[in-house]
Amino acid sequence: MRNPGKQMDVGIIGAGWAGLATAIELTLSGCKVTIYEAAKSIGGRARRIESGSMASQLPVLDNGQHLLIGAYTETQRLIEIVSPGMSAGGFLRVPLTLDYPDGILLKAFKLPAPLHLAAGILFANGFSLAEKLAAIGFIRHLQSQAFKPEAPASVAEAIANQPEKIRRYLWEPLCVAALNTPANQASYKVFARVLKDALTGSRYASDFMIPVCDLSGLFPEPASDWLKERGAIINTQQRIRTIKPGPNGWKTDCEVGEACHDVLVIATSAPQASSLLSKFPECAQIVSQIEALRYQPIVTVYVQYPVRLDLRTPLTGWIDPVPFFVFDLEATHRRKGFIAAVTSAEGPHLDWSDNRWLNEIHDRIEQSQGSLPRPRFIKRIAEKRATFSCTPDVVRPEQTTPCKNLFLVGDYVEGPYPSTLEGAVRSGVQCAKLVTQLS
Ligand SMILES: Cc1cc2nc3c(=O)[nH]c(=O)nc-3n(C[C@H](O)[C@H](O)[C@H](O)COP(=O)(O)OP(=O)(O)OC[C@H]3O[C@@H](n4cnc5c(N)ncnc54)[C@H](O)[C@@H]3O)c2cc1C
Repeated sequence: MRNPGKQMDVGIIGAGWAGLATAIELTLSGCKVTIYEAAKSIGGRARRIESGSMASQLPVLDNGQHLLIGAYTETQRLIEIVSPGMSAGGFLRVPLTLDYPDGILLKAFKLPAPLHLAAGILFANGFSLAEKLAAIGFIRHLQSQAFKPEAPASVAEAIANQPEKIRRYLWEPLCVAALNTPANQASYKVFARVLKDALTGSRYASDFMIPVCDLSGLFPEPASDWLKERGAIINTQQRIRTIKPGPNGWKTDCEVGEACHDVLVIATSAPQASSLLSKFPECAQIVSQIEALRYQPIVTVYVQYPVRLDLRTPLTGWIDPVPFFVFDLEATHRRKGFIAAVTSAEGPHLDWSDNRWLNEIHDRIEQSQGSLPRPRFIKRIAEKRATFSCTPDVVRPEQTTPCKNLFLVGDYVEGPYPSTLEGAVRSGVQCAKLVTQLS
């Protein structure tokens, strides 16, 4: 039994954005926090992988280019706590813009939501009036259902009656960007929830937020400094091999030896959580829920031109042969000609070689920019299990487990958001509330 007057001691396994969010909230509530991270560096899937240098001409690279939106309010709140000013200064923030060089440009207006998007659609280039009215009608229909549709199940079914161009250039890319799941597999309910947060409330909620620094510098490293200043312990390169209940809480076993905590929070990715829980018969249902999860990839290809590019928006999209979006990292990272091409979810591009990627990207950039020298291929990062597939039938495990004082957090845990930074952070914030209620 824990002494009621004693500061609650919480162990957190994993220093991704979910684990760090949990740690910040628990520290604010007066708990003693110890984090165990298996990797050399913190940040999990959203971190810097190469530091770059002017001498090597190698830009800083992340483990995949990330995009946030204005509706990620909890992420911004925590960034601001650990690094005041960063929630504004850490991003290039632009109104929702869909820019396809093959003739379509849609930009949200400076009007209250959802008029900002309705006007953006109405005045977009490249759609007929009938197509625009159909798109606006779709939003109004969702609004009339308070963005809580009972049916249909998949996004593809929901948009089946929309004009083809609206489906391909508006709803399908937004669905894949938000859920990292193709429209024919994606949950309409979750998509509607993300649209609600992005389109109702403030017009800024649908803003695109592109980090202007690397992901580690945006949140994990300032969070680590902030936590350490407040007495938290962060052990890197410490993979927790086993966990077991002890007389006074939970025992963790790793390189630094055995430790005991009143409460344990598993903040690893889903497969790692499953392997830590698999020896507890009472967690069999959670383990089977995790094992039933399916995953979607994200491919990021970093490329650098020897000349400045003149992309008209920081994010430019192409639909064929597979949809991909190019981030203008010259605009965000001040590196001449530096871009990241991102393709979300599964598709034939998973088999493309580096050379094929280079050709596909170069062809498309030349379509909008005219003739250019060939770019330098820098790196392709293909994360096969970037996020879980957000399908209508997915059952996500709850944060509480049948084991006393053992909790789960992460982007895969039950919550309103799909597998995103905001989903991970919200799960950490919510878990911290549950933990502090124990005291
Ligand atoms: C390429 C790519 C692009 C993405 N793009 C976007 C985007 O644009 N926008 C967006 O919102 N989201 C995006 N995401 C999703 C986002 O990165 C994740 O949702 C989020 O980072 C998940 O955080 P997490 O803390 O839940 O898990 P993770 O980041 O997986 O963190 C888990 C941590 O636990 C550690 N760990 C595992 N096992 C152990 C153990 N036994 N002991 C100790 N430590 C352990 C791991 O090393 C890791 O650091 C993208 C993801 C990828 C991969």
